Amino acid sequence: MSEHDDAGQPRWPLPAGLRAQTLAVRSGLAPSPHGENSEALFLTSAFVQPDSETAARRFAQMEDFTYSRTANPSVRSFEMRLAAMEGAEAAIATATGMSAILLLVMGLLKAGDHVVCSRSVFGSTIGLFAKEFGKFGVQTDFVSQTDIGEWRAAMRPQTRLLFAETPTNPLTEVCDIAALAELAHGAGALLAVDNTFCTPVLQRPLELGADLVMHAGTKFLDGQGRVMAGALCGPAALIREVFWPVLRTVGMVLSPFNAWVVTKSLETLALRVRAQSENTLAVARWLEAHPAVERVYYPGLPSHPQHALAMAQQSGTGGAVLSFVLRASDAQAARRAAFHVVDSTRLLSIAANLGDTKTIITHPATTSHGRLTEAQRQAAGIGQGLVRLAVGLEHVDDVTDDLQRGLSTL
Ligand SMILES: *Cc1c(COP(=O)(O)O)cnc(C)c1O
Repeated sequence: MSEHDDAGQPRWPLPAGLRAQTLAVRSGLAPSPHGENSEALFLTSAFVQPDSETAARRFAQMEDFTYSRTANPSVRSFEMRLAAMEGAEAAIATATGMSAILLLVMGLLKAGDHVVCSRSVFGSTIGLFAKEFGKFGVQTDFVSQTDIGEWRAAMRPQTRLLFAETPTNPLTEVCDIAALAELAHGAGALLAVDNTFCTPVLQRPLELGADLVMHAGTKFLDGQGRVMAGALCGPAALIREVFWPVLRTVGMVLSPFNAWVVTKSLETLALRVRAQSENTLAVARWLEAHPAVERVYYPGLPSHPQHALAMAQQSGTGGAVLSFVLRASDAQAARRAAFHVVDSTRLLSIAANLGDTKTIITHPATTSHGRLTEAQRQAAGIGQGLVRLAVGLEHVDDVTDDLQRGLSTL
């Protein structure tokens, strides 16, 4: 480990055996010699070396700090804290969630390798696997989120990676992480899980057998919609020997400022995610009883097709994202109705984000999933009457009052 781990600071190192909630507040690099109680922000590109011998060693081992594309203390603290919360040996931070997936594939795969991925994953993730990686000879087959038989049937001798996201955006379909891990390992492949929606507060994929966890830190980890961030968590050997060399060469590193913001936010992650999930369940129940609503997608509702699996896998909660379908006669009417509900709100934010303390309302078919072809959208089940809500921390009644403006005048 880094020389900085025995910096000899007061109350350092931390006692062994601390629990997850404590690690969310306390874990990270040792404080600097000034003994700051809150993590310092290291906005510096380069680090001054004491002498040539030390510089030579640090550049060779890449452990201590030389240049911020290689490593930065603010970024390291974020990585250590997130790894502790995911129960991972190590983590590596990236500039965005998408660049974490780019790093995953650049690190693990080469031309000729094959990926199996759910067809319900985040829109840009589909684009990345289907189009960009395809250009470099990495082929991806997209399969049903929930039918393990389709995953099994798509496996080839060249399959090296299974990529899953659960629950998905925006239909909240839940896949069985333990079953996918077993399938992957039986074929000598790895399972990576995008844990953006649940965060380690609700779901810890590594404990269920996944090999790697990917995060869009832009969402709940930041939690207040301020910065972009991403990460991969997993075994130290993979993080250090496979992903780190690629990242420091390719350079889509997390900025120290963004790392500092997200590190601070991890301290309140559990409180926020639990409170937002409670709010979401209340809104989901209200929507399900509304006459203008045809269907609500939310894993916390007993009507959800994978409700039992979600409750077992997600700490008994549905998370803080739901979507609902408006009653309409055809696609055109459905789109008009969805735009009416969205445009009638006066409080909720019309934006393309989630995991914020401010509730966000989105029309996926024309925003997050707007770049997909109509065929891809159909395959993913994203209709024109679908509206997504990423519920924040406002009073639930203010959220439902705002939705009622449009729903009552359809
Ligand atoms: C937002 C998101 C991403 C991409 O993250 P960026 O930080 O926007 O690049 C990936 N997966 C999921 C589930 C997301 O919600």
